[in-house]
Amino acid sequence: MGAYQAFHQRSLSERDAFWDEQAALIDWHKPHTQVCDFSHPPFARWFVEGETNLCHNAIDRHLSARGDQKALIYISTETGIEKSYTYRELYKEVNRAAGMLHTLGVGKGDRVLIYMPMIAEAVFAMLACARVGAIHSVVFGGFAAASLATRIDDAKPALMITADAGMRGGRAIPYKPLVDEALRLAQHPPRQVIVVNRGIDKDYKPVVGRDLDYATLRKAHAEVNTPVTWLESSEPSYILYTSGTTGRPKGVQRDTGGYAVALAASMKHIYCGNPGETMFTTSDIGWVVGHSYIVYAPLIAGMTTILYEGLPIRPDAGIWWKIVEQYKVSVMFSSPTAARVLKKQDPVYLSKYDLSTLRHVFLAGEPLDEPTHRWLTDALQKPVIDHYWQTETGWPILSAVHGVEKTPIKMGTPSFPVYGYNLQILRESDATEAAVDEKGVVAIVPPLPPGCMSTVWGDDERFVNTYFTSFRSRQIYATFDWGIRDKDGYHFILGRTDDVINVAGHRLGTREIEEAVQSHANIAEVAVVGVADQIKGQMPLAFAVVKDGGKIATPELKAAQEKEVMAAVDKQLGAIGRPSRVHFVTLLPKTRSGKLLRRSIQALAEGRDPGDLTTIEDPAALDQIRVALQQG
Ligand code: AMP
Repeated sequence: MGAYQAFHQRSLSERDAFWDEQAALIDWHKPHTQVCDFSHPPFARWFVEGETNLCHNAIDRHLSARGDQKALIYISTETGIEKSYTYRELYKEVNRAAGMLHTLGVGKGDRVLIYMPMIAEAVFAMLACARVGAIHSVVFGGFAAASLATRIDDAKPALMITADAGMRGGRAIPYKPLVDEALRLAQHPPRQVIVVNRGIDKDYKPVVGRDLDYATLRKAHAEVNTPVTWLESSEPSYILYTSGTTGRPKGVQRDTGGYAVALAASMKHIYCGNPGETMFTTSDIGWVVGHSYIVYAPLIAGMTTILYEGLPIRPDAGIWWKIVEQYKVSVMFSSPTAARVLKKQDPVYLSKYDLSTLRHVFLAGEPLDEPTHRWLTDALQKPVIDHYWQTETGWPILSAVHGVEKTPIKMGTPSFPVYGYNLQILRESDATEAAVDEKGVVAIVPPLPPGCMSTVWGDDERFVNTYFTSFRSRQIYATFDWGIRDKDGYHFILGRTDDVINVAGHRLGTREIEEAVQSHANIAEVAVVGVADQIKGQMPLAFAVVKDGGKIATPELKAAQEKEVMAAVDKQLGAIGRPSRVHFVTLLPKTRSGKLLRRSIQALAEGRDPGDLTTIEDPAALDQIRVALQQG
């Protein structure tokens, strides 16, 4: 048995002893009395009665040894601003932000909704919430006002923190105006909003009595020290919304102690990042990768983390490698889409910079195709590690674990189940284990390891019903991904089992996009499917039935209507959900019981056979899809 296999096996067979050892990687205010309480399956409580704090572990405990070391490097190629903060400076900024929260009456258990671009204040805000025991809910800036309002109503925040605007590709992206609109739509708006005024939106106007200026509050709290609020390990640290099969996003609730331990252990065993080294994660703080590997994990590990606002190819395709050289990055974490974008650029950028400090590049969030995996490995001459995880887990499920054993990388696979995960590939029919090379559902036998979601915010029943009821005979966590295991134990992910699509690593529910399309007054019915895309992995494609056919009577009207529908999606959900095309049909393919045949539509759109059509109500509906696709 290999060293990693033994490590993994022990994490399951001697679960409590294993995690007890990992728990020593972080600071505890009070030790735990029990490693894992699994007396109410599938709910797991890790490090019971232990008290800790994420902000303390990310900042305070490093002050004596690395107060003058850089903790956060902020680089914006959009504004030209580059600024770094030592651990001591970060401590000061977070204390100021935490002081603001205290003054505004925000404390333990209160929710704070953060809707911010990639600026240092977003990191201060997250860590400040953690410091005072408030629960942050960061919403990705690409979501539009209506999506934001849904999340506000679910989290019921006491406070929101935003900025006037973000920047992307040289263009200003409004934030505050979307907050204004969301607060008009929301049933439970917070009374106050803190705004970081970057001076980008020249028309920025605070709402008197509601909007507070970050810079003014910061000044007023310049010398404030805000004590850490110790939390029992299972108390929530944050909520992060993610999409599923319904139109209503789920609030993934994360604990405190289990998350801190899982992240600290992952930095040691998976990412191999050492204190004093630099980590560069190219995600956005609005996604789980940003939470875990821009903010919390590198800081918990005493590393320097880079927060980058900008595109990977601006000012040129060498910008990320320039950052690697300049800041001696040793661990990099990016996405397959970014790798595919870089693959299309001039290869000269990959040899222009000194990448000798770089040890590994990790990619996650969507399937990594074998040619891109091979290309990046050859281009960088470094191990490129594909690893697989979900918002729900907060850290990797499948990965090479090179801190334990340098197992060979097989192209196109995220390797092996990570320690702590009792991962099985199960037959959908009877929940028995699939054979080698047989496709099945990727499932995790509970308890989920530390760091994974503890429940759906405010809805324990939804947690159980969504994730643990796929197999009638066994209460097992379903990832909703298909997978196979080969004879060498390597795992391959083969796409989702549900109606969720993945656009450039961003998970979107087709139902969510359909609801946004239907927000247009002339749309009666719609089907949205994810269609393979060379760069983004998948793109949404819509087939819609209109109420008033007169509005699409000529090609010009049709084109105008399509534009309007896309604009409706932008407004309702955000441009990330905008379909690449909206085709108009008079009938959608459905089963006799009225279920949309999304898989058949998707197959046709990808030039494949539509599969079993015995249940279709009217075959003419598929002909319309064919014609629409042919006409382009
Ligand atoms: P999210 O929660 O938005 O990160 O999306 C998680 C989903 O992304 C998973 O359920 C998979 O469908 C997909 N995914 C994430 N990482 C990988 C990977 N390395 N390979 C294949 N699919 C992935």
